[in-house]
Amino acid sequence: MSNKLHIVSLGCTKNLVDTEVMMGKLQNFELTDEQGDADVIIVNTCGFIDAAKEESINTVLNLHDARKEDSVLVMAGCLSERYKEELATQMPEVDIFTGVGDYDKIDELLQKESRFSDEVFLIDGAQRIVTGSTYHAYIKLSEGCNQTCSFCAIPSFKGKLNSRNLDSIANEVEALVAKGYYDFSFVSQDSSSYLRDQNIKDGLSLLIQRIELIDGVKSARILYLYPSTTTISLLKNIAKSEIFHNYFDMPIQHINDEMLRIMKRGFGKSQTLELLEFMKSLPNSFLRTSFIVGHPGETVEMFDEMCEFAANFGFDRINVFSYSDEETTPAYDMSEKNPAEVIARRADILGQIASECLEASLKKEIGKEVEITIDGESDEHEYLLSAKETIWAPEIDGEIYVNDRTKDEELEFGKIYKAKITDIVGNILTATVDNA
Ligand code: SF4
Repeated sequence: MSNKLHIVSLGCTKNLVDTEVMMGKLQNFELTDEQGDADVIIVNTCGFIDAAKEESINTVLNLHDARKEDSVLVMAGCLSERYKEELATQMPEVDIFTGVGDYDKIDELLQKESRFSDEVFLIDGAQRIVTGSTYHAYIKLSEGCNQTCSFCAIPSFKGKLNSRNLDSIANEVEALVAKGYYDFSFVSQDSSSYLRDQNIKDGLSLLIQRIELIDGVKSARILYLYPSTTTISLLKNIAKSEIFHNYFDMPIQHINDEMLRIMKRGFGKSQTLELLEFMKSLPNSFLRTSFIVGHPGETVEMFDEMCEFAANFGFDRINVFSYSDEETTPAYDMSEKNPAEVIARRADILGQIASECLEASLKKEIGKEVEITIDGESDEHEYLLSAKETIWAPEIDGEIYVNDRTKDEELEFGKIYKAKITDIVGNILTATVDNA
């Protein structure tokens, strides 16, 4: 079999790590962007909500249309795992189906037929090809989730919380540092529950201590904190760290007390506010969250309360999700469902508020001296370099155009520089780098 591989990673950053593991197993293949040239096409799908499921199926069907004869089309990941029976009959276009358990066996799978293992794969030493950056990598903390959020099907196909042990994570980070990576985003479905499946309450604080011992790690952040397992002592440990930024990504999904109870979030309005206020009180803190609109039982008053809060609390970044009616979830069996047009209207309204919060947060940066990391040439113009504030997570928090520097020396891609934020163009900041 000649070996050209076209691989697509859909969904979240956790899925991306699993895709990188598959690429690590298929290093004998030549990667190609040309779908029609590929001998093997792999789609690592997302099965979280309707919009993601649709994107996954359309991506597979479009690749089927574009593929060459005798190529092999593989459907992997969450959607494939969640609907293994249905897809096997409904998608004859696909040659091999696999789920969330065999990423590190993809090379064997290509020699055989579809396979779903009972285990959920959790990276532990598997070689991976880090994509998208020469200095940043996502690090998985765990797989699965023990929470029971009313709207979420993830535990039904990713299983119970299964944390990596600290050595496994530290070894992976050390190996990546040896390859020149120095910026890391720690991810999972519920990061603040890290090691709770091993009866360790403050797993993330232990992680911070351990990562700080690794020479060469310059920058790090934790994504996907869960309110009821996030403690003030954890936030203090993050704030004390020289390496972990005061970057707080905590999806709260709603703020109305009754709706938080209906959503089975395990934490009410006052406790959630206490955490957020403390985060906001920390120096140079960056707050990211997400909200779900239109959950069954959400009244106009509850929605208005959420909008009021989102508009005024001071979040730097807000993700807005429309409620998706997912079978196997508790919300699916709830009455008082909101009509699709009401959900869409609420998503527009809160989406507008999210854009205003983004703009306000970006404008606050103008005139500031900050640390930025140069990612490369911008898509805008060859003389404009693309960068991000070092505290920001890649790709999701914004872009900065570097249009000037204090000395003529070339700026190195992947390097951290001090810079002055000078202006904003649309939602993109501009900066002058101090490379004196
Ligand atoms: S924390 Fe809630 S929303 Fe997130 S994966 Fe777990 S059950 Fe789903």
